[in-house]
Amino acid sequence: MQFQNKITIVTGSTRGIGKEIAKAFAQEGATVIILGRNASAADQTRDELLSLGLKADSFACDVTNGANVQEIINKILDKHKSIDILVNNAGITKDNLLLRMSEDDWDEVISINLKGVFNCSKAVAKPMVKARQGKIINISSIIGITGNAGQANYAASKAGIIGFTKSMAKELASRNITINAIAPGYIETDMTAQLKEDTREALLKNIPLGRLGIAKDVAGVCLFLASAEANYITGQTIVVDGGMAI
Ligand code: NDP
Repeated sequence: MQFQNKITIVTGSTRGIGKEIAKAFAQEGATVIILGRNASAADQTRDELLSLGLKADSFACDVTNGANVQEIINKILDKHKSIDILVNNAGITKDNLLLRMSEDDWDEVISINLKGVFNCSKAVAKPMVKARQGKIINISSIIGITGNAGQANYAASKAGIIGFTKSMAKELASRNITINAIAPGYIETDMTAQLKEDTREALLKNIPLGRLGIAKDVAGVCLFLASAEANYITGQTIVVDGGMAI
């Protein structure tokens, strides 16, 4: 119960990795705030956690909209009084080769994956600075480190998160706020369910640990980075990819 009563926001936690991260924090005693664009999906995830005897709340929030994010953060502060941990997890892919990539697909991916991290971090930084404590964890991707054909928009957004993380770590360290990133490899979720069988087999050949990751692999690292054991770690990106990028 290392996160007893810690108010923990996880963006994009209605399914996939975000949902697993939210559950992992709740199982350690945190009150988790489920955020997603779809209100009924957010409420459903909250209810699932409540039915397990865990503490959770939910709000519909589009991370691309700074005013909406600020409004929701204000509501969370009114109701729960503090924000201890933020996990910036919301993200999408809109893959295509550069010559076929539309401006809309570029903008949408950058807006959700990168601007969303800016909007949410900015909104929680104020109460965290005031409280002189906080932990922010940004979900980047191994693609932000290695790049990938067909994912220029996604790779740029995820590399951007790594630079953002380092800058925020330098800005907020004196206020006892740490900011770190996680760069997962291929994790079994709706996002990777679209992979074709031959692509999946080719991927597996390049993963020394011989399997795709599961959301729990990412959630465990998230708990560590938010824990007291990681108090002296900031501005780092931890790769969770089964050894794929070695
Ligand atoms: P999913 O597609 O399963 O889930 C994405 C979540 O983000 C959903 O809850 C979705 O909810 C939410 N979301 C999307 N857009 C917005 C928005 N504008 N505002 C608020 N919430 C939003 O993705 P994964 O669980 O696979 O991925 C989670 C994160 O991990 C992403 O950042 C992804 O890039 C990263 N990642 C994933 C990897 C993988 O292999 N799966 C590998 C490396 C990184 P809703 O649609 O209701 O808004």
